[in-house]
Amino acid sequence: MNPLRLPRIVLLLAMTLLAGAAGAADPARTLLVEVRDIPAKEQAKGGRFDYSDYNRGALLSIVRSTAQLLATRAEFEGLQHAGFHATVLMESPEVLTLYKRAYYGPTLKLPPVYHSYDQIVARADELVREHPERIARVPIGETTQFHRPIYAYRISSDARHPQDKPGVLFDGCHHSDEVVGAEIVLTLLQKLVLDYGRDPEVTAWVDRCEIYLVPVVNVDGHDIVTSGRDPRWRKNARDVNGDGVTGVFPEGVDVNRGYDFNWAMGGSDRPEKDNYRGQYPFSEAENRAMRHLLELKPFLLSVSYHSQGEVIYYPWSWGGQGAPDDALLREIAGEVAGKIRTMDGQATYAVSPGGPSSQSYAWLYGRKGVFDFIIETGKGTHLFAPEDVPGIIAANLEGVRALMARTTGPGLAVHVTDAATGRPLAAQVWLPRIENETVDRRTTEAAFGHYWRQLRPGNYEVIISRPGYQTAVFHDLAVAAGNWTKLEASLQPEGAAR
Ligand SMILES: [Zn+2]
Repeated sequence: MNPLRLPRIVLLLAMTLLAGAAGAADPARTLLVEVRDIPAKEQAKGGRFDYSDYNRGALLSIVRSTAQLLATRAEFEGLQHAGFHATVLMESPEVLTLYKRAYYGPTLKLPPVYHSYDQIVARADELVREHPERIARVPIGETTQFHRPIYAYRISSDARHPQDKPGVLFDGCHHSDEVVGAEIVLTLLQKLVLDYGRDPEVTAWVDRCEIYLVPVVNVDGHDIVTSGRDPRWRKNARDVNGDGVTGVFPEGVDVNRGYDFNWAMGGSDRPEKDNYRGQYPFSEAENRAMRHLLELKPFLLSVSYHSQGEVIYYPWSWGGQGAPDDALLREIAGEVAGKIRTMDGQATYAVSPGGPSSQSYAWLYGRKGVFDFIIETGKGTHLFAPEDVPGIIAANLEGVRALMARTTGPGLAVHVTDAATGRPLAAQVWLPRIENETVDRRTTEAAFGHYWRQLRPGNYEVIISRPGYQTAVFHDLAVAAGNWTKLEASLQPEGAAR
């Protein structure tokens, strides 16, 4: 026997087995099956229809008691024999076509209740033209793959100029298949502009704060979803393998794993994974755009809209330890969650601490001192049916009301100036009884010298410092209930004549 022949036979056999295995798994799941009236216990943990964000290879969605899943003919018949109300919605050898039918609906195109990025920008720009005193467009960066502009919109009582007011940020679509987030932000944007002067509550928010909105962070990915190419697309459009072809699932980088706070602890280092974090922190231009925005404006509070789960994640649980502001973060998350009704109308959103790594809220809170919340809107899918979208938006606008109520305090409104010149200073503001080494030191805004900080009423130690100046220490500073407690600190330059 030719000694070369045996390995060749073994190799051929192995290839046949591999082909057989692959053939048994994927191509045979050619059915999109709908199952109705699924009992609650089958939807619970360990049940047959236990949906999560990461098992969408088979179970595509489960909204209320109706699921859609990919199945083989045998699996479909098995469901019927087990007594489930299962019907075939579509049969196709193209798995992408089945996903389109499941997520877009019978037209296989994005339902018009959702907007493309061009439509979102056109609508917002129209408001900028009509109300330049109320809303301004602020380019914050470009996308990683196609260099499309990423826009923030600034809304205030005079949007033509940066304001010395607490900042609040709302963003959508770090994950591009979670498109309802962009719709919530766009709806809020229109409400803030159009209801100013008509609705006393909205007027008060806009007078009191400077509000930034980023309807879509992951613009390239959003385009893949909204153009009808692929409704599953979650990551950005980066051509990770450099083959010149983009938009081939599951390429791209998870933009919500790219922030530089415990970056290596978050997501996956494997490019084919849903939560691939990229090659290094801030490798993705979408993350750099958000970082740039934080350089333009510090924020008191912010929200990132995602789907799904009807839960608010706040920073953080880190090996069982809460964040330095854990009690207050949980309290605010609870206030907001308690106002957002679930899709079934039976309850309100839950709250949970998230992990401490690489996601927006960990970076915003840990590095930038922003009380940030991820709101997972809706339940059981990422692309909600058109009839469910207005309800999800309306419910989340109630959450916005609860969040905005926090922009009056309680807490500290620190204002730091140079004692010699009276000019505002960028200075470090440290509350050593609260802020341990897990978080970066917080600072006042350079242009205005202000820093607003949420606190529960009580007594605090505050240390204000800046190189070249004498450090100011405030012992047992009383923070009142109700509105902001003002703290004026004028720092003496070191070596200055007294
Ligand atoms: Zn998400």
